[in-house]
Amino acid sequence: MKKIALFGATGSIGRSTLDVVGTIDGFCVSAISGHRNLELLHQQAERFRPRWVILTDGSAAKEWNWSLPKGTELCVGMKALTEIAAEAEIDIVVSAIVGRAGLESTAAAAKAGKRIALANKESLVAGGAVVKRLAKENGAEIVPVDSEHSAIFQSLQAGKRSELERVILTASGGPFFRMPDEELKNVTLAQALRHPTWNMGTKVTLDSATLMNKALEIIEAKWLFDLDMERGELEVMIHPQSVVHSMVEFRDGAVIAQLSPPDMRLPIQNALTYPDRIGGGPTRRTNWRLDQTLEFFAPDYSRPKFDALKLGMETALRGGTAGVVLNAANEMAVSAFTRGELRFDQIVPTVRQIVEEHDFQPEPTLEELTVLDEEIRTNFRTPEN
Ligand code: NAD
Ligand code: MG
Repeated sequence: MKKIALFGATGSIGRSTLDVVGTIDGFCVSAISGHRNLELLHQQAERFRPRWVILTDGSAAKEWNWSLPKGTELCVGMKALTEIAAEAEIDIVVSAIVGRAGLESTAAAAKAGKRIALANKESLVAGGAVVKRLAKENGAEIVPVDSEHSAIFQSLQAGKRSELERVILTASGGPFFRMPDEELKNVTLAQALRHPTWNMGTKVTLDSATLMNKALEIIEAKWLFDLDMERGELEVMIHPQSVVHSMVEFRDGAVIAQLSPPDMRLPIQNALTYPDRIGGGPTRRTNWRLDQTLEFFAPDYSRPKFDALKLGMETALRGGTAGVVLNAANEMAVSAFTRGELRFDQIVPTVRQIVEEHDFQPEPTLEELTVLDEEIRTNFRTPEN
């Protein structure tokens, strides 16, 4: 039995992970965490009977009024994540918290040499250099859950690293791919929350609408696969159907892709079972009896609509503190948009300005990243309309 610590169990990825674990053999859940959805966390605890239930938001603890199954302990606060990530009995840490809040627990799992099934892309965007170094020093294995990175991870197995020409990261283009640029200023929260192909948590859905999700994924891919951005080892293609989850091109011109219906349960399952592939799980099949068309469009980087991609490329190339700043500014801008304090088309330019104006450092420590992250959040202001 492989024992899993699932951080962010009550979210979209967390629930899909429990769907997978509940259907396949060989895995059990030792720890689950949730921030505010206490009722769901309690239901999950009743069903999976983990050793630890972690309520990360300490202020919500007084609302906890359930008893837990015998043998299950309730832990409160973020610190419990880093402690439990390092517990000897944990084999796999599923990092599925949203936002920079996932960084410390991901870093703790790397330090403890665990397998990390990584959904929390923000931890690599904000602290890629640190997480990668900790993983390397302590023999931790990061297996991506993000569908594009899972596809790249799988496709890379068709050749040697030295034979890689480039990685082609696909993007659905979000709900506004076909909308003229000048109409983006009128986009409402409800429209931005309607993603055409994926059903996900609020933040990643909004990031997909602005294309900042792809900016984060460019940076995530750079860290995961050690891509040489200067050599052009990463390209983005718009693929509205989200069936080809990404591709890898080798030096002989062969392009290897991974295809499946848009459903996170496959990349989640793969991150748990790798290097094995198993049947009998909840993953969906491609229906080859249906006619279907797959489209690919190269993004036009000169259009405002694709500026997030350009910003992602520049940030990945720069490294250092650029990622943590981009991520913090984006988290703040997204929440300002959800409160109606920022227009949809102001999100990316606001983030760009903050990234360009910050005091760049090439090799920050984790502590320096944390301080800078706080600073960006505290100083965040929405532009005068
Ligand atoms: P979600 O909002 O549905 O769930 C987030 C989880 O994190 C919840 O369990 C919540 O309780 C917890 N959480 C929220 N704030 C927290 C905090 N401050 N401290 C500790 N825990 C906190 O998000 P999601 O869609 O499941 O996404 C999770 C991560 O996976 C994100 O980084 C996202 O980019 C990535 N991802 C998601 C999808 C998807 O299909 N949903 C796909 C690829 C990658
Ligand atoms: Mg993705």
